[in-house]
Amino acid sequence: MRIRLDRTLCDGFGVCAKHAPKHFSLDDWGYASPAGDGEVEPADHDDVQRALLDCPVHAITVLPDRENGTPPAVSRATTADREPSP
Ligand code: SF4
Repeated sequence: MRIRLDRTLCDGFGVCAKHAPKHFSLDDWGYASPAGDGEVEPADHDDVQRALLDCPVHAITVLPDRENGTPPAVSRATTADREPSP
């Protein structure tokens, strides 16, 4: 899985770095940057997926696979779609 972070959309909420600190870093103002080249190893998919789904401005997207150019199926749930945390 490959991801892209659009820094022009980032509003500095910091949610991505909280969920997937290995893949997102925050500057002094809380704006995110990708921490790597966008490649996400399978072990980190769930953390990055959570970051993607929780980003309030939808700044994180999944890029198509390099092999076949097909983007993976990703469902974007809104906050209202999820169960509240206990
Ligand atoms: S969750 Fe979204 S808005 Fe928040 S820091 Fe990450 S990319 Fe920026």
